[in-house]
Amino acid sequence: MASAAYFIKEGGIAGDHITIYEELEVAGGSLDGSGSAEKGYILRGGRMLNFSYVCTYDLFSFIPSLTNPAVTVYDEIRAFNKKIKTHANARVIADGKIEDVSLMDFSNQDRLDLIEMMAVSEEYLGSKRIDDWFEDDFFKTNFWYMWDTMFAFQPWHSAVEFKRYLHRFLHEFERINTLAGVDRTPYNQYDSLVKPLIKWLQDQGVNFKMGAEVTDVDFTNFRGTEMVDCLHYIQNKNKKEVHFSANDLLLVTIGSMTADSSLGSMSSAPKLITDKTDGSWKLWHSITKQSPLFGRPFIFDSRIDESKWESFTVTCQGTEFFDLMEQFTDNVAGTGGLVTFKDSNWLMSIVLPHQPHFIDQPKEVTVFWGYGLFPDNEGNYVKKQMSDCSGAEIMQELLGHLHFDEATEYLLKTSICIPCMLPYITSQFLTRVKGDRPQVVPENYKNIAFIGQFAEVPEDVVFTVEYSVRTAQTAVYTLLGLDKKPTPMYHGDQHLSVLFDAAKTLLT
Ligand SMILES: Cc1cc2nc3c(=O)[nH]c(=O)nc-3n(C[C@H](O)[C@H](O)[C@H](O)COP(=O)(O)OP(=O)(O)OC[C@H]3O[C@@H](n4cnc5c(N)ncnc54)[C@H](O)[C@@H]3O)c2cc1C
Repeated sequence: MASAAYFIKEGGIAGDHITIYEELEVAGGSLDGSGSAEKGYILRGGRMLNFSYVCTYDLFSFIPSLTNPAVTVYDEIRAFNKKIKTHANARVIADGKIEDVSLMDFSNQDRLDLIEMMAVSEEYLGSKRIDDWFEDDFFKTNFWYMWDTMFAFQPWHSAVEFKRYLHRFLHEFERINTLAGVDRTPYNQYDSLVKPLIKWLQDQGVNFKMGAEVTDVDFTNFRGTEMVDCLHYIQNKNKKEVHFSANDLLLVTIGSMTADSSLGSMSSAPKLITDKTDGSWKLWHSITKQSPLFGRPFIFDSRIDESKWESFTVTCQGTEFFDLMEQFTDNVAGTGGLVTFKDSNWLMSIVLPHQPHFIDQPKEVTVFWGYGLFPDNEGNYVKKQMSDCSGAEIMQELLGHLHFDEATEYLLKTSICIPCMLPYITSQFLTRVKGDRPQVVPENYKNIAFIGQFAEVPEDVVFTVEYSVRTAQTAVYTLLGLDKKPTPMYHGDQHLSVLFDAAKTLLT
């Protein structure tokens, strides 16, 4: 959708010349928000944004807000964050008590290892894992607990990506214990970002073909250049083809962190789907048969044990849970960022967003979101793997960590917790080497581009909305041959004040 917006805004392409093929019945991909107060709301994920999301903010600086079309979505986000400021007072909890995380707990060796990692090249790091680089104790520091749960890194993830994050978010180093640099959207990202973007695209005449799974792409060699020739897709069980002329362009989102996600309920655990029912990975595999330049999807989709975790959304009738959390953390909902339970075997974290979090959310209802990074471990209070737990059991485990014993029975009766298994959620963080991800526009190809989390963009970091929008800008400007570059990245590591503050955090 970001690409379509840039084709129109920067490329001057008429909206009705653009078609989006989406296999689901709803657009927006990972940026979802659905359900109801009666049956329970569902968020597979919740997004932290940052002022350095320059491409994302550029996109939303020309998309009118749904609630007030006189302002843009970007204006709305800025105004919201001026009013509701994040400053976590209870970033990490252990044994039902707030931990002091003002210091990072680094050893001198950790400091040296961090500095050295930032200095060496990506080629040098190659396919190393993070735990190939750091001593075991690094993974017990306050820094690791906060960085790891803020961005969802695991010790076995790519050292290259970790290094990119250190550079990319160096400006967040000094406030990682309060998350004061986090921007939020007024509502969940489906309501705040996706809905206005869809409306704007529809107003421009963009065609949305829903329930249309793209299955393959054919190429032909035209005067020495590789060109897309035909697109294959299935809609309503019918196989269809779109034939390309020399002027047609194709942008493909390859892979997806939310592919094959599945939901549980208050009484059932979600299933772990491993046989690729959604189209994103299948399509990438089909396309790679045509050229080694199109990357290696099996690097990212064949290690589910290293890429899965589980999230959950809780809908409460009433404000009791939120009131107890406010008393405990001294944070009003929306200002606390992330609360992590350090001694949780599942490494559980929760986020209480500003309410209402859904546009249609009734006043007496409250909604929050959480996740566990180790779903295969047995809980501390519920002696089962998180992946085998129903929503009620996940809620019980959470209330155990909070020591909200007296309120447990009431909260369990008045809440709906919907768990969600995400087999590929950190697939983009898995160890990789050059060539595993294709260039946005591969060499010698003129009418195809790869967008999303698995295309290669120098320096920027995956598991962000920003990365997807950056690939969209890159694809549109390159394919149209525009004299325009993607919005320049913010380089905190080139600002003396950022370096000074980061050094202070590192050394104290
Ligand atoms: C739990 C969670 C937490 C997150 N936290 C943050 C955060 O704090 N900050 C942040 O910036 N980002 C965060 N993200 C990441 C961010 O949401 C994603 O990076 C971004 O939304 C990816 O968007 P995308 O459109 O590139 O890909 P996707 O969201 O994967 O969308 C791809 C779309 O293409 C469709 N599709 C795929 N293959 C086919 C096919 N063959 N045919 C037809 N349609 C197809 C899919 O159905 C889907 O709708 C988080 C994501 C999750 C899930």
